[in-house]
Amino acid sequence: MVPGTVTREEQRQQVFQLVALRDVDRLRAQTTQLIEAVPRILAGRQRDVSAAKEGLEAAKAKLQGFKSHLKTYELDLADREGAIQKANANLMSAKTNQEYSLLVAEIARKKDDKGKVEEQILEQFEVIKQGEKMVKDAEARLKEAQAEFGAFEERAKQELTEHKAELVGQDERRAQNRRALDAEVLKVYDRAFKALGEGVVPVEANICQGCFSSITPNDRSRLLSGRELVTCRVCSRIQYLPEVLQASSA
Ligand SMILES: [Zn+2]
Repeated sequence: MVPGTVTREEQRQQVFQLVALRDVDRLRAQTTQLIEAVPRILAGRQRDVSAAKEGLEAAKAKLQGFKSHLKTYELDLADREGAIQKANANLMSAKTNQEYSLLVAEIARKKDDKGKVEEQILEQFEVIKQGEKMVKDAEARLKEAQAEFGAFEERAKQELTEHKAELVGQDERRAQNRRALDAEVLKVYDRAFKALGEGVVPVEANICQGCFSSITPNDRSRLLSGRELVTCRVCSRIQYLPEVLQASSA
C-alpha cells in the first residue's frame, strides 16, 4: 500500500473490515475450542461409567468370595457330622464303662464344635445378604451413571452440531471480510495474528491495547490522519483509533 494513494474513507473501511475480521477470528477461536472440548468432556464422563462398572465387578467378586467361604463351612459341617456318626457307632462296641463314658464325652465335645460351625454358617448367611445388597447398590449406581452419560452425550452431540453450524457461518463471514481487505494489509494482520493471536488492536489514551506500550506523537498523528496503515513499533499489531473508526467521514 503506497501512502497517499488511499482516501480517509477507504482507509477507514479497511480498518473497519480489519476489526470485523478480528471479531470473527475471536469467535472462531471460541467456537473451535468448544468443538474440541466435547470429546474430552465426554471421555471424562465415560470414566464415571467405567468406575461404576469396576465397582460392580468388585462387589460381585466379593460376594463370590463370601459364597465360597460358606461352602467351606458346609463341608466342615458335613465332616463333623460324619465323625459324630462314627463315634455313635463306636459307642455300641464299647467294652467297658470307662470307655463308654469317654466316648460319650467325646461325642458331646464334637457336637459342641459342630454347633459352633452351624453358628458360623448362620453368620455367613448374613454376610452374603450384605454382599448381595452391595451388588444391588453397585448395579443401581452403574445404571444411573449410564443414564446420566446417555443424557449428557445426547446434549453434547446436539451442542456439537450447533457449534459446527456456527463455525460454518463464521467461516463465511471471515471469507467476506478477507475479500474486502487489501492483500498487503492482510499479510500484516495474518503475521501478527499468527504470532500473537490478534492482528489488530485499538489505541486508547495513547496506549497500544495489545502490548500496553505508549505510542509516539508521530504515530498518533498518523493514526489521526487516517490515511495509512499504522502498526505498533513494539508488538507489530495493526493499530487504530476507535474515535476515527466511529467518526463518519463526510
Ligand atoms: Zn503494541
